Amino acid sequence: RTAIVLLTRDLRVHDHPALATTCAAFDRVVPLYVLDPTLADRSPNRTRFLHQSLAALREALRGLGGDLVVRHGDPVAETLRVAREVGAEGVALSADVSRYASRRERRLRAECERQRLAVKTFPGLTVVDPGDLRPGGGDHYRVFSPYHRAWSGRAWREELAPPRRVTLPDGVTAGPLPDPPPGESPDAAVGGEDVARRRLKQWLPTLPDYDDLHDDMVGDGTSRLSPYLRWGCLSPLTVANAAGDRGSPFVRQVCWRDFYYQVTAGFPEISTKAYRRGATEDWRYDDDALDAWTRGRTGVPIVDAGMRQMRAEGWMHNRARLITAGFLTKSLGLDWRPGVAVFFRWLLDGDVANNSGNWQWVAGTGNDSRPYRGFNPIRQAERYDPHGGYVRRWVPELAGVDGKAVHQPWRLPDELRRTLDYPPPLTAPGAEPVWLR
Ligand code: FAD
Repeated sequence: RTAIVLLTRDLRVHDHPALATTCAAFDRVVPLYVLDPTLADRSPNRTRFLHQSLAALREALRGLGGDLVVRHGDPVAETLRVAREVGAEGVALSADVSRYASRRERRLRAECERQRLAVKTFPGLTVVDPGDLRPGGGDHYRVFSPYHRAWSGRAWREELAPPRRVTLPDGVTAGPLPDPPPGESPDAAVGGEDVARRRLKQWLPTLPDYDDLHDDMVGDGTSRLSPYLRWGCLSPLTVANAAGDRGSPFVRQVCWRDFYYQVTAGFPEISTKAYRRGATEDWRYDDDALDAWTRGRTGVPIVDAGMRQMRAEGWMHNRARLITAGFLTKSLGLDWRPGVAVFFRWLLDGDVANNSGNWQWVAGTGNDSRPYRGFNPIRQAERYDPHGGYVRRWVPELAGVDGKAVHQPWRLPDELRRTLDYPPPLTAPGAEPVWLR
């Protein structure tokens, strides 16, 4: 008996419910990845990371006696073609929540039904399945705290070992895997389950300091596991279990990820429409301002530092994401959607649920129970980068400015300011914000 495991963003062999269950139940299994041209050019950084992760997965599957079968084209059509070639009885895949992924799954189900093939979806994208926890009278939680309480009290599934063996059907060709194409960020992390597992192991000893250090921008004490979680090089359950204490501040962050997945499952328009009913959306549109923000040339050092970190590494510190997004929407009054698109182009961890969910939270259109909270980039900078080290690292024009004075270059003496190749601060027309005074 033969089955296909259609891989999408679950590029690992450890704790992979679809792969483990299928390998246990069938004699022959085709682990299949279809390079989908619709998703190809959204982000050179992510495409590179994907290819690196696929190469690592191929190695891991070969180590188990199998291989990664790679095809190009429409994932539904290609899966059916391979199913015919090998005489498969069914297709297994990890359930996903984005609009694109849900449509793909629906199309796959419809086609498979026509050809009398079984389709089975498995958990694995989140710790707790979206839809598993429902508040009374709703299909998903709209507020984080009650969700977190329910999530922490919930029994989690068992973590699974890799399949003992993966046996391919005779005659199936694995297909070439192109070399990873170039990305845009010179210092981007490298994809792959092996790198991810090493990263988790190396980082875990610092976990006890997470609560104190996760908001320290220059200390850089967070796990940087997000790209690996995004691509499923690591299972979120593995990460949460490794951290031990379910109530810890780190596991709470992993819960935010699950939270936005269940929000997206309940509200698939999350990347285009305001989530909160009645949210005011009187945004401005200003291409020059958006461009200055994108390039890290707003003249507000903490904002520029964050944007430049993202362009250099394909990753940005969470506090910097909050500050750069807050600056775009609350200080400049610009629409959050172009901000989502810029992040989505650069971030290795960029995904619909977390990117749009967090942007909407910041913009006040999302799940924040205090949508009208104020925003002051300088107060944020002085609190989370008190000595200015994060800014000096990413904005070399200001490397010679000592201490926290680096956060407000407009206050420097004129003769010094004139020597700096750094723009004056960008503000919304007609506004003199408090932080500029
Ligand atoms: P850690 O602090 O080590 O946290 C561990 C894990 O918890 C992360 O890897 C991540 O999977 C999860 N996590 C942490 N914070 C959040 C959060 N606020 N929401 C959801 N999950 C979280 N995260 C993404 O994975 N993809 C995105 O596209 C994304 N876009 C964002 C956009 C904005 C405007 C903001 C404010 C945040 C965004 N985040 C996104 C959330 C967060 O910034 C990153 O997950 C985090 O910075 C990743 O770094 P880390 O792995 O070191 O995190």
